[in-house]
Amino acid sequence: MAFRPGACARDACSRPERMSESPKVLRARLAALAGALAYHDHQYHALDTPEIDDAAYDALRRDYLALLAAHPELAPTDGPQLRVGSAPVEGFRKHAHAVPMLSLDNCFSASDVRDWLETTRNFLLELRDGQTPIAVCCEPKVDGLSCALRYEQGRLVIAATRGNGVEGEDVTANARTIADIPQQLTGNAWPDVLEVRGEVFMADQDFLALNAQQDAQGGKRFANPRNAAAGSLRQLDAEITRQRPLRFFAYALGETSAPIAQTQQGIRACLQQWGFVLNHPAEVCEVTGLDVGPLQAYHDRMASARAGLGFSIDGMVLKIDRLDWQARLGFVSRSPRWATAWKFPPEQAFTRIEEIRCQVGRTGRITPVAHLQPVAVGGVLVSRATLHNADEIQRKDVRVGDEVVVQRAGDVIPQVVEVRLASRPTHSVPWQFPPNCPVCGSALRREPGVADTYCPGGLSCPAQVQERLSHFVGRPALDIEGLGERNIALFIERGLLQAPADIFALASRDGRWAGRDGQPLPPLADWEGWGEQSASKLFEAIERARTPTFERFLVALGIRQVGEATARLLGRHFLTVEALLACLDLVVAGDAEATASLLAIDGIGDSMVADLRDFRADPHNRASLDALLDSGPDRPAWVRVQPFMPPASVSPIAGKTVVFTGTLARMSRGEAKAQAENLGAKVAGSVSARTDYLVAGPGAGSKATRAAELGVVVLDEASWLALLAQTAPGQTDTQVADGATDRGDD
Ligand code: AMP
Repeated sequence: MAFRPGACARDACSRPERMSESPKVLRARLAALAGALAYHDHQYHALDTPEIDDAAYDALRRDYLALLAAHPELAPTDGPQLRVGSAPVEGFRKHAHAVPMLSLDNCFSASDVRDWLETTRNFLLELRDGQTPIAVCCEPKVDGLSCALRYEQGRLVIAATRGNGVEGEDVTANARTIADIPQQLTGNAWPDVLEVRGEVFMADQDFLALNAQQDAQGGKRFANPRNAAAGSLRQLDAEITRQRPLRFFAYALGETSAPIAQTQQGIRACLQQWGFVLNHPAEVCEVTGLDVGPLQAYHDRMASARAGLGFSIDGMVLKIDRLDWQARLGFVSRSPRWATAWKFPPEQAFTRIEEIRCQVGRTGRITPVAHLQPVAVGGVLVSRATLHNADEIQRKDVRVGDEVVVQRAGDVIPQVVEVRLASRPTHSVPWQFPPNCPVCGSALRREPGVADTYCPGGLSCPAQVQERLSHFVGRPALDIEGLGERNIALFIERGLLQAPADIFALASRDGRWAGRDGQPLPPLADWEGWGEQSASKLFEAIERARTPTFERFLVALGIRQVGEATARLLGRHFLTVEALLACLDLVVAGDAEATASLLAIDGIGDSMVADLRDFRADPHNRASLDALLDSGPDRPAWVRVQPFMPPASVSPIAGKTVVFTGTLARMSRGEAKAQAENLGAKVAGSVSARTDYLVAGPGAGSKATRAAELGVVVLDEASWLALLAQTAPGQTDTQVADGATDRGDD
C-alpha cells in the first residue's frame, strides 16, 4: 500500500479556530479538508486501500463539518458532506440503485446522541412536547461493506455494492457464492420485489486464516477484515470469492413492491423468517425526553462485548423504530435523519517514527508522512501515518526517532496522537520542513496564515503533472479508458505529456514524436507491452473524450470546490463553457456585475466565486484551457464541450425557488423544507425577484409584503400541499414518503 500525495488530512483544523481568521484562510482550510476527504473516500470505497484509520477519517470529517457549521456561508454545494462512498470501479457492470444507498452520520459521545434526539424531536411536530417516548432500535455496526440484494418472486436476481450510493457494482455472481445469502427466500410471505440490504464481512478468525494462507502463497496481505471482505467480494473471478470465507448480516430494506412492516424491529423479524442471518444483539430502547441513558447502557454493553463477538464492529447504529417517522424524517444529503452511528473510541498503541518523508499532491500541496516501526494496533500491522502539515508537526513536536502514541479504530494507517517526550532520544532535533520539493526541487512556499506548504512548480513538477493529468482523465472527469496512472507516468517520462491538450495530440503525432533525448520515438504500437490493438483502443478512447459534457469538463479542470453538483449549477445558468469563461474573465477583471451574477446563482457563495476567479486568473490554467478549446490555423479545437442539458423533471416544483414564512400547522419548517428540496425545489431564506412561491402561514410579516410588491405567488399551507400532490405518480412514493418500506437505511 502506497501513501499517495493529496492525502493531507487534519491540517489547521485540528487546532481551535482563531477568531481573526480571514475568509481566505477559512476557505483554504475547508478546501484542504474537502480535498483530503475526497481522496480518502476514493482510497477506501473504490480502491479498498484506505490510508488512514476510521478514527482519523472521522476526525477529519468532524473538523470539516464543524467548520462548515460555523461558516455556512462558505459551504460548497458539492462538498464531501454531500457524498457517499465513491464511484464504482471498472470491470464490474454498473447497477443503478432504485433507492439510493446512503451513509450514516456519526456520533462520538452521549452528548452527540442527545443532539440527534433533540433534532429529531424538533423535526417532528408531535415530538416537540418532549414527553412522547421514542422507540430507538439499536444494532451493532458491523465493519464490512454494504450490499443490496434484489429478490424477484423470492429468487435472488441482483447483488450490488453501494458504490457512490446512486450506482454500485453488480457483484451477483460473487454474492451467490456466500452461504449466508439465500438464493431463494424461505416461506412465501415476501413481496414480489424485495431488496434486502446488509453487510458482507469476514469473521476475525477467518481473516487471520486468510492472511496466513496469503503469506504461505506469497499473496497480498489484507490490512483488516473489512478490506479482506471488500477485496474478496469485488473479485472479477467469482471462483476466488467462493474460496473466501465471507458472511452476510441483513439489517435493512431497499426497494419493495409492497409495505412490509411498521417498525425496524418488524423488518428484522421478517428478514429472519425469510432466511437471513441478523446482526445480533439488537435491542429496542424507549427514550423519554432527551434521556440517552438506555442508549448509553446498550453502547456500554456492546463496547465490552466487542472483543468477544468474533467479528469487527466499529460502533452501534441507532434507528428510529417507527417507519412512518423514518419516512417523514427522510434524508439530509448523504445520510438519513432517522438513523445515526455511535462510534466506539479508537484503539491505541506505541511505536517509533523511523523517518518523515514528504509527498506532493495535484495542487502542489506537500504532505509529510511518518514512516513507523510496524506495530500491531487492534490486531492490524500499521507502518505509516500522515502528519498533515507543518503546523501539526510543530504543535505535536513530532521528531524522527520519537516514540509516539498511534491510534486506529479498525483500519489501516493510524493517527499520531502524541509524542512520549519521556522516551525521546537525547540527540533528537526538531524536524524541519525541507526547503525544496522532493520531486522537482522548486523552493517550497507557505503563505502566511495557511497551514499547507506548496510546491510552486506547477506543470514543471512531474509529481503535479502526473496528479493533474490523472485527475483530468479520471472517471468523474473525462473518463478516458486505458489512460491510467501507469500509462500517464510512462508518457510523461518519455516527454509526450505535459498538459491536458497533449493527450489529444497523442494520436495525430504518433510516430512523429521525439523523446527527451531528441531521438525519434517509434509509434506507440511498437512500444514494449503495446500492440496495434491496445494503441488504437487508447486513441479511440481519447477521441471519444473530445466531446465531454459540460459537467465532466468542468470537473476535469480540477477547480477547487467544483464537483459535479456545482458544475450542474453553473451549467444550468451558463449553458456553455464559453459563456462561463466569458463571465469569469469579467470577474477576474474586477467587474462587479459579473461577480454579482455568479453570486445570484443559488448555491454559489463567495468562496466558490473566489476559487473560480483564482482558477481563471492563473496563467497556467489559462494557457492549458486555451490549448484545449482554441482551434489552430489548420485544426479544429481539441475539445468541444457539449452545452449543458438540464435533466427532465416530473415534479411541479422542480427548479422553482420557494420561501417559507409564518407558522406551518401540518409540519415543522425543517420537514417542509426537506420535502420541497426532495422534490427538486430550491429553498431560499428571503424573497427576491427570483422567488417562485412564498408559502405563508399565519404570522407572515415582511416577507409577505415583499412578495406582494414583487408579484410573487403566495400560497397558504393547504394550497402548497395541493400543489405538491400534483407530483407525478411514483415521485411521491420515493421522494416524499421515503419510508423504510420504500427506502433502505444504509
Ligand atoms: P459509513 O460507512 O461510515 O458511511 O457508515 C454507514 C455504513 O454502515 C452503511 O453503509 C453500512 O455499510 C454500515 N452498517 C453496518 N452495520 C449497520 C447497521 N446495523 N445498519 C445500517 N448500516 C450498517
